[in-house]
Amino acid sequence: MISLTTTKYFNASQLKVLQRRGIRAVEDVLFYFPTRYIDRSKILDLYNLQRGETVTFIGKVIHSEVKYGRKRRLVVQCEYQGHAIELVYFQGLSYYSKALTHGVEAAFSGNIDTFRNHFTMLHPEFELIEQDEQIHTGKIIPIYKITDAMRKAYISTRSLRAVIHTMLKDYQNKIHDHVPQKIRDAENFLSLSNALHQIHFPQDMQQVDKAIERLAFDELIFFSALMQEKKQARKKIGRNQVPQIFNGKDSWALRLKNSLGFELTKDQNKAVHTLLQLSQNPWPFGVLLQGDVGSGKTLVALLTALHYAQNNFQVAVMAPTEILARQHYRSFLDFLHEFPMFPLDILLGAEKTSERKQKLERLKKGETLIVVGTHSLFQEDIIFKNLGLVIFDEQHRFGVEQREALRSKGNHPDILSMTATPIPRSLTLTLYGDLESILIKEKPPGRLPVDTRLFQEDDLPRIYKSVIKYVEQGRQTYLVYPVIEESSNTNWASLMTDFHFLEREVFANYRLGLLHGRLSPEEKDRAMQKFKEGVIQILVATTVVEVGVDVPNATVMIIRNAEKFGLSQLHQLRGRVGRGNKQSFCILIQSKKITDDGEKRLQAMLDSEDGFYLAEKDLEIRGTGQLLGVRQAGESEFRLADLAKHSHLAEKATELLEQDHELLEKITKQKNWQKHLQKGLVLFAN
Ligand code: ADP
Ligand code: MG
Repeated sequence: MISLTTTKYFNASQLKVLQRRGIRAVEDVLFYFPTRYIDRSKILDLYNLQRGETVTFIGKVIHSEVKYGRKRRLVVQCEYQGHAIELVYFQGLSYYSKALTHGVEAAFSGNIDTFRNHFTMLHPEFELIEQDEQIHTGKIIPIYKITDAMRKAYISTRSLRAVIHTMLKDYQNKIHDHVPQKIRDAENFLSLSNALHQIHFPQDMQQVDKAIERLAFDELIFFSALMQEKKQARKKIGRNQVPQIFNGKDSWALRLKNSLGFELTKDQNKAVHTLLQLSQNPWPFGVLLQGDVGSGKTLVALLTALHYAQNNFQVAVMAPTEILARQHYRSFLDFLHEFPMFPLDILLGAEKTSERKQKLERLKKGETLIVVGTHSLFQEDIIFKNLGLVIFDEQHRFGVEQREALRSKGNHPDILSMTATPIPRSLTLTLYGDLESILIKEKPPGRLPVDTRLFQEDDLPRIYKSVIKYVEQGRQTYLVYPVIEESSNTNWASLMTDFHFLEREVFANYRLGLLHGRLSPEEKDRAMQKFKEGVIQILVATTVVEVGVDVPNATVMIIRNAEKFGLSQLHQLRGRVGRGNKQSFCILIQSKKITDDGEKRLQAMLDSEDGFYLAEKDLEIRGTGQLLGVRQAGESEFRLADLAKHSHLAEKATELLEQDHELLEKITKQKNWQKHLQKGLVLFAN
């Protein structure tokens, strides 16, 4: 890094301000990218204006004057291609009247309107432009984010532009490009120095895209390096004890298997087998277990846990919600019916102090071998005697810090992260490059595909009738709403508005239940339990039911305003049915008005029930927003990389690092290299 204090680009007070924004080095300035561009080549056409349209034009100030009327205002007359455009400011008059004086040329952006036969703009933003400035000979002008503090220190978008221009000239021959020429040629990447030039001073907007692509690639390389390094680091952790694998009659896991009444699927068996193999390494494993909804991950978790427990290793099973924690606890109890008094426990947030104390005591003494819980297991007062394995169910619901916190409770326990949100392969390699990946693709046999259908809101009466038909047959139904309460911003159906109508009019003879996020954990749990037991026949809910809930007798899933949900969410919701051996239905009810993307999502749901296919589709339709949520929480805020657009780059980056160990070494050898993830690369070879 080349510290700005050793250069002459900024004065002392400016340096101070910049430092507060984390801009300390030449590299930081070069990676301070424009937030937008003004494209001078785009000519504003005054004859084809839409009223109220937001436009930018470059005009010359002819006259400006403060006028006094009902309200004091500054009126600036501008000339644009032989027309007059009037700009009006009500606030900041002294600032604007000083800046916008006769002869000044600037780019003005705002809503254009016509008033008494002339064009007007109210409070446009402006960027001063000087015709003779060398930097601005191009047609595209970069605009930077300038904070108030920066402005006060006389750093403007214009002065910054000038500095960056000089800086690029001063350093362009010293910028070290760590992506070998061969790869740049093959991938048609800009050189790093050219990419930096183009992102600040592009020839045209295509060049901006090219620059972003190249710089995004670098980000992804860095991220990938981070993951690889993590993986390496884990392999350096030694441990003196690994769980012994029991075989034959002695094995608890085998005893459980024999008591199940069904066979494990091939993928389930393979997953357990792989996990046990990995547990024999002298370093802790980190595994990402991806299995579509209903593929039977819970059982894989339990079988694996039993191996550890049989070795007196403790196992912590973490669920994202109390509902799920209790569900796991109960199904573990069910599965373990051959093991009376199995040292299994559940630890939740709100428990009686005396009870909690006892539970903690048992954990500390190592008496409890498997404990199920939520984030509550992260709390400081919880001490394990010999934590050997941590299992995260629906791992994307946990933040990085949380994962780290629990890890620190053991002497480097193995970590098994499970997810039913499939991640496209290209991204698994990058985002989870530090983990071993295990897939469960196959579902237990005998499952019928869910019959998915699309309906309009007008069809509701018909749908309610068939719900009654199924309920009469002893089946259960989920009815999912996008929101709890009505809101003026949307016209989505709301659970509270409909509930009484449903309860009194539509399903008066049936037992309805209510489940949403505003209920207390106990209320939620009670509702869920009643639904499981069949006491509730129709569960009216929000997406609280989305993850992991398992009620095989429920066969109808109705989703209101279905297009409003993301694909993985819809897939999760649909995964709540089709868990038994009866034909199940997923009824998608679309809103009256629906966007193109919404339509695509619903179509994808009709087309496929394969979570991996839907994940690819999701990426295609929506971009990374949601996907990034999969792995985010402080670790990977990409600045330029957009995994939806750049998943091929992600793949390339990982590949490159795997082939070129020197490159990985070069990157990880740099001091504080992890920091560069968000800042850009170490530019200058040292
Ligand atoms: P998920 O992977 O979505 O968490 P679950 O673990 O909840 O799936 O399993 C879904 C249902 O399938 C549960 O009721 C479970 O008992 C059952 N199940 C799991 N494995 C098998 C199998 N091999 N054969 C039949 N049913 C199974
Ligand atoms: Mg599950």
